[in-house]
Amino acid sequence: MLARNPDLHCHSTVSDGLLSPRDLVARAVAHEVDLLALTDHDELAGLSDAREAADAAGLRFVNGVEISVSWGEQTLHIVGLGFDAAHPPLVEGLAQVRSGRDERAERMGAALAQIGIRGAYEGALKYVGNPALVSRSHFARYLVEIGVARDVKSVFDHYLVRGKPGYVEHDWASLEDALSWIHGAGGLAVIAHPGRYRLSNDELEKVFARFRDLGGDAIEVVSGSQGRECTLGFARVARRYGFLASRASDFHGPLESATDIGCADPLPEDLIPVWSHL
Ligand code: AMP
Ligand code: MN
Ligand code: MN
Ligand code: MN
Repeated sequence: MLARNPDLHCHSTVSDGLLSPRDLVARAVAHEVDLLALTDHDELAGLSDAREAADAAGLRFVNGVEISVSWGEQTLHIVGLGFDAAHPPLVEGLAQVRSGRDERAERMGAALAQIGIRGAYEGALKYVGNPALVSRSHFARYLVEIGVARDVKSVFDHYLVRGKPGYVEHDWASLEDALSWIHGAGGLAVIAHPGRYRLSNDELEKVFARFRDLGGDAIEVVSGSQGRECTLGFARVARRYGFLASRASDFHGPLESATDIGCADPLPEDLIPVWSHL
């Protein structure tokens, strides 16, 4: 496919976004997006509504998902694009990945109670659109509501990242499984926001190499959460490893996300866009 303004990574209320799949599609249309993927965390339940709304508006839509993957002690996010959403290993694998989220959330609530923040689990649930998908973002919104920190970003920095009091360890999918579910379903696998991981350059190179060796297809050379310098660095990575390149806002909601849907920077022109293979 060709596209002038593709956006291949965003979230709805089916995971930790603030807009319903239909409202997200309407916003994409308003921002002149011409190729959209909805990529909720570990969940496909928003795809049919989004596709229906996109079809009605004449917006091209591809199935997407953002899979949580454990890499040692770190979490990586692998986006799948253009897959068959009924492929049983993908559907069952994602159900398995989701299944630990509620218990994790209860443990987060207990961990926060230990530092005197009570009721955070129940408070986070008020923000949850899909009971199977409680995320740290929902806790962050509740902690902002009760005045623990001034915005979502500072809640993460002080409470919800590794080493902070509300962080609990969790086992997600393996990289191997995530790739085999995506590829088995006929999709393409993309490393999401490579600039967001707390990994040294050497460790990040190991991720790229392993991902390539497992048949990984693309990286988000452009992500809404990064600046131009990062983009140039990941463009070099794409050339070096032979990865296709994706462009993504990672939009979660108005006011909360730095980059709105359809508003990420353009890809450097020499790269092969992942959407040319969709
Ligand atoms: P979870 O899947 O529950 O671990 O939540 C991960 C989500 O939290 C990410 O997809 C982001 O939406 C959000 N998030 C993670 N780190 C940050 C951060 N530093 N600032 C804002 N949001 C973040
Ligand atoms: Mn998110
Ligand atoms: Mn992510
Ligand atoms: Mn995301």
